[in-house]
Amino acid sequence: MTDPGRLTVITGPSGVGKGTLVNQLLGRHPAIWLSISATTRAPRQGEQEGVNYFFMDRADFEARVAAGGFLEWAEFAGNLYGTPRQPVEQQLASGRPVLLEIELEGARQVRQSFAQGFQVFIQPPSLAELERRIRGRGTDSDEAIGRRLERARVELAAAAEFDACITNDDLTQALLELERLMQLSS
Ligand code: 5GP
Repeated sequence: MTDPGRLTVITGPSGVGKGTLVNQLLGRHPAIWLSISATTRAPRQGEQEGVNYFFMDRADFEARVAAGGFLEWAEFAGNLYGTPRQPVEQQLASGRPVLLEIELEGARQVRQSFAQGFQVFIQPPSLAELERRIRGRGTDSDEAIGRRLERARVELAAAAEFDACITNDDLTQALLELERLMQLSS
């Protein structure tokens, strides 16, 4: 049996700055292994196969779901996202701390299979600030932004389900708080 306590899940609405926070965390703690998800979403400019995501079409994704290849998966804003099971299990078995950066439904599924995993929710200072950040990113269509904001409301209402909640107002402070919660030296 692997040590499920080594699995950390980070969830929070799109645009909250999870990606930046996670990158900074990994830069400071190279021992942590970040799971690369599979998605049916089209790559954004600059995104690379196998670095940001494994990009695949819906049929391939669904075949992998049927084969039990995902630890969790969910539909988010019209696209499918999933955590490949095998690499996560391998890393946990080797004793490496594992980090998943996934949305709410996926976090709930992981909670079922890794009850001792640590789940952190990242929230914005306000919904208005979140909208400003999503629009400012300039990577999504108006329709996609609308879906992401709608989903953000649902996710924010679920914050209390998590073991801990961090408000990402100031990135440095949020990072320190995350390190403290994960019991990492800063
Ligand atoms: P984006 O399209 O902005 O990269 O990601 C959209 C949402 O999908 C984000 O909230 C992100 O955390 C989530 N996500 C990314 N990978 C996975 C995954 O493997 N599983 C689940 N459930 N959500 C994911």
